[in-house]
Amino acid sequence: MKSPRVLLPWEEMPRQWYNVYADVPDAATPVLHPGTMQPVKPDDLAPLFPMAVIEQEVSRQRWIDIPQEVLEVLALWRPTPLHRARNLEKALETPARIYYKNESQSPPGSHKPNTAVAQAYYNKREGVKRIATETGAGQWGSALSFACAQFGLECMVYMVRVSFDQKPYRKSMIQTWGANVVASPSRLTKAGRTALANDPDCPGSLGLAISEAVEDAFGRDDTHYSLGSVLSHVILHQTIVGLETKKQLAAAGERPNVLIGCVGGGSNFGGFAMPFIPDKLDGQDLRIVAVEPESCPSITRGQYVFDYGDTAGMAPIVKMHTLGHTFMPPRIHAGGLRYHGMAPLISALVEKKLIEATARHQKTCFEAAIQFARTEGIIVAPETSHAVRVAIDEALECKKTGEAKVIAFNLSGHGHVDMAAYDAFFSGKLEDYAYPEEAIREAMKSVPEVKL
Ligand SMILES: *Cc1c(COP(=O)(O)O)cnc(C)c1O
Repeated sequence: MKSPRVLLPWEEMPRQWYNVYADVPDAATPVLHPGTMQPVKPDDLAPLFPMAVIEQEVSRQRWIDIPQEVLEVLALWRPTPLHRARNLEKALETPARIYYKNESQSPPGSHKPNTAVAQAYYNKREGVKRIATETGAGQWGSALSFACAQFGLECMVYMVRVSFDQKPYRKSMIQTWGANVVASPSRLTKAGRTALANDPDCPGSLGLAISEAVEDAFGRDDTHYSLGSVLSHVILHQTIVGLETKKQLAAAGERPNVLIGCVGGGSNFGGFAMPFIPDKLDGQDLRIVAVEPESCPSITRGQYVFDYGDTAGMAPIVKMHTLGHTFMPPRIHAGGLRYHGMAPLISALVEKKLIEATARHQKTCFEAAIQFARTEGIIVAPETSHAVRVAIDEALECKKTGEAKVIAFNLSGHGHVDMAAYDAFFSGKLEDYAYPEEAIREAMKSVPEVKL
């Protein structure tokens, strides 16, 4: 018998992150100041981010050293295993070989601490005492509170109201690691108070929670802001996932033909896939597929334009696939991945046809997640179920064609704190919902006019 797991020894954990802009420099697009609509200068961002992170955001250097202090925290759970999904392959009767990278093994249960730890470290090194952030389903808030605890920083989390009410255990995780957490919209910020004045029952959105956290950070000298996805430095920090995967696939004697990840803001997918872009540029037979929900289809149905990163229009303007920054995700949607836009880097690579995108309805994703749990054992996060769905679809396609493709997907996190979403599925409460065309058209009117 062969072990289904491909393990990397600690000594082989990557000591550098990979920066794809070195190989695809024209994927870079300007980041604009929300007031002047002109490209931001590093000083504009200094109230929000540490200088090291601002430099990484615009860096063109191919390899960037991971600081020793960051490596030491990552060592608590990294390298993560790559698994061959033999039981799933058997159940599907597919000739394909399916692999998954298991990022659910981190303390908070997702890929998110890979960047949270790096960001907390750089803030600490530059003398910041407190970090404000937003969280949707709570994974980012819990990852950052874990990271802040490692470096002795205070952490303030604005949590989207629907999740705050529906997913109380993530709130408890955030508190366990010592952070403060409030429901967003809150009364603590002007953005929050305005939203509550318009609608006292406002369920909140990621864009709105970002506005609150950014306002908090601008308002205090000891506080910075931190974003868990979308920005290029976040994807950079996540490339440790893809770099490990590359070594593990090579150790298993495999070359991938299809790489799959779910996308909300694009960080787990980006981190998993970016290290393979040079292979794609070299002409390797490789498809790289991003999967999004039909209810929040920013790449497949949004437009590629400049838009605000947040609802209130305080965050920088970036060029991305967007549904419009006033997008309010439907309450009916259980599976996270609710951001109105897509990482500018991922958007640019889609335009360059180095990456493709597809959307799936939530019920078929839960069906895939359940099949995966009953074969491979792991209960994946509702977000991750989108990647599982497409990995299974690709494997079933191989069954039809007889091709023995190598399919690898990123298992971005487990669903242990999100069983309420599974519960909704089992009790028949989930409905498939495609985001309406009129709503997209309406929200797209809010996109700023940019003349460069
Ligand atoms: C946050 C999260 C996502 C979505 O965010 P990305 O930045 O697109 O990766 C996906 N899966 C899990 C488990 C998450 O926690």
